[in-house]
Amino acid sequence: MRLSQMLFVTLREDPSEAEIPSHKLLLRAGYIRRIAAGVYAYLPFMWRVLQKVTQIVREEMNAAGAQECLLPQLQPSDLWKESGRWDTYTKAEGIMFSLVDRQEREMGLGPTHEEVITAIARDMVRSYRQLPLNLYQIQTKFRDEIRPRFGLMRGREFIMKDAYSFDVDEAGLKVTYQKMDQAYRNILKRSGLEFRAVDADSGAIGGSGSQEFMVLADAGEDEVLYTEDGKYSANVEKAVSQPADAEASPFTSFEKRETPGTETIETLCTFLKCPASAIVKNVLYQAVYDNGTTVLVLVSLRGDQDVNEVKLQNELVKQAATYGGNTVLALTVPDAAAQQKWAAKSLPLGYIAPDLADDYIQQQKGIAPKFLRLVDQTATELTNFVTGANESGYHVVGANWGKEFTLPKLVVDVRKAKAGDRSLHDPSQTLQTARGIEIGHIFQLGTKYSQALGATYTNEQGEELPLVMGCYGVGVSRLAQAAVEQSFDKDGIVWPVAIAPYQAIVVIPNVNDSDQVKAAETLYGDLNAAGIETLLDDRDERAGVKFKDADLIGIPYRIVTGKSLKNGKVEVVQRATKETQEVAVADVVSTLKQWVAAAIA
Ligand code: ATP
Ligand code: MG
Repeated sequence: MRLSQMLFVTLREDPSEAEIPSHKLLLRAGYIRRIAAGVYAYLPFMWRVLQKVTQIVREEMNAAGAQECLLPQLQPSDLWKESGRWDTYTKAEGIMFSLVDRQEREMGLGPTHEEVITAIARDMVRSYRQLPLNLYQIQTKFRDEIRPRFGLMRGREFIMKDAYSFDVDEAGLKVTYQKMDQAYRNILKRSGLEFRAVDADSGAIGGSGSQEFMVLADAGEDEVLYTEDGKYSANVEKAVSQPADAEASPFTSFEKRETPGTETIETLCTFLKCPASAIVKNVLYQAVYDNGTTVLVLVSLRGDQDVNEVKLQNELVKQAATYGGNTVLALTVPDAAAQQKWAAKSLPLGYIAPDLADDYIQQQKGIAPKFLRLVDQTATELTNFVTGANESGYHVVGANWGKEFTLPKLVVDVRKAKAGDRSLHDPSQTLQTARGIEIGHIFQLGTKYSQALGATYTNEQGEELPLVMGCYGVGVSRLAQAAVEQSFDKDGIVWPVAIAPYQAIVVIPNVNDSDQVKAAETLYGDLNAAGIETLLDDRDERAGVKFKDADLIGIPYRIVTGKSLKNGKVEVVQRATKETQEVAVADVVSTLKQWVAAAIA
């Protein structure tokens, strides 16, 4: 392609709408244009990158035995009602764009396709002889993200590869899952990305085991905790650890103390001269279940620890049946306005004890009359601890479970693991932290959707059993941007060769020099003929501008038909290292063929 004939506009300045390097660079280099919040046009260079990523994904999925298909984006609400996700996705999380068509039918734009694929399997899979099956598609997904940001990283319309597998049993699923794990590693490796596979929370989608594939970059929205020995890595949402040992409590007998102005752990520690790990703090949450019931939740945990709200949410979902619900729609720390809706009297905030009386809750329809009390495992081990006195300005010291306070029945792990904690597999290993961009997520779903939609098969013995499912996503457009986030310098993008829009660019420093033009045209033709995807910068621009643009758009190899032409040579520059060498015109094609082959091997 000739730059003179392309829609090619680069910006000198960083666009104000962008915060992170990859977003700035993709806008500046003319790869994408924002059309609405979280909605982008993929311009010709970007589209080539996306097609390359797509092709790598496709090859690896095919190699793993999956079959490509294309499912509808417009989906009937009925299917989502069968799985029980319509309300969660359209109302609670609000992630699904929904609409009513002119026949008054409710429809949604697919944020994911478990329902559609399970309905197909329900209709078409009859026998174990048809299994295992793994179907995938590469397609635009729609999600009404509350905070679309960072360009393609979190869009409201984005490209995903999603695959869904069906097996006869858990053992079969494990085999398929393992194949997908390998395929994902291959995809990321071939795309030239540094990544880490981490244990992950399964979230609203349900199911048991899951793993995320994180591209490590400072701009990542996720936190990854890992150990140096390479044996443990997990998303902080899921991570487990052993916290630092609690320091001994300085108190030996139970007593109520006046502790004015000590609403925070820090001020309390200073006031009482005690370590945070000798305190039991009590955090109040408000959960709303899908049947509308509000439950006030009191979490007791060690003062030096924080609540992991993902783990808490999962515990609350487990309690759903107790309240006649299926799932939790919202989990929040109630602010003053929220408290007014249910508090019978003003709460001793900052001074709450694990036994805060239930009569703080108004007896009212739709509100559970008692606190749901949970205690984190690590807080159960404390003795002579400090905690609130249920009275503003007062705490108690020297308290013990089983004496002054009844240990809540629900002992759970809702503590947030953090860097510096010891790992469970080897306490000599401490957790390290890194930022990651979630590129892929693979789930062992089990029978959640097949049971809900009645997707069964008949086994060899003639029994009818639910299909055992897995699902596997890759954010194709997110991956492309993550590659930039991981690989750029002060001058612009440095594409991994495997997914660069073009592999080489021939730059003519002076288009009025006919020798330069002639040599460049020949090289441009020869390189393309040899299968090296090559651009020609034949614009009537200053050489400096052209070099800057070539660096900005990040083409791996630049060939300049400049001064050394008179010696039968051209200058070849490697974008990543800026290494420059003179190569005889006759050797350019073979040299580049070699370099490209080595880079994408
Ligand atoms: P996240 O936690 O980042 O919101 P998710 O858990 O909702 O992602 P999945 O439902 O597992 O994501 O989707 C599979 C993949 O699709 C993700 O791993 C990610 O790479 C990509 N993806 C998800 N949401 C977006 C988005 N809004 N924009 C771009 N890519 C996305
Ligand atoms: Mg996820």
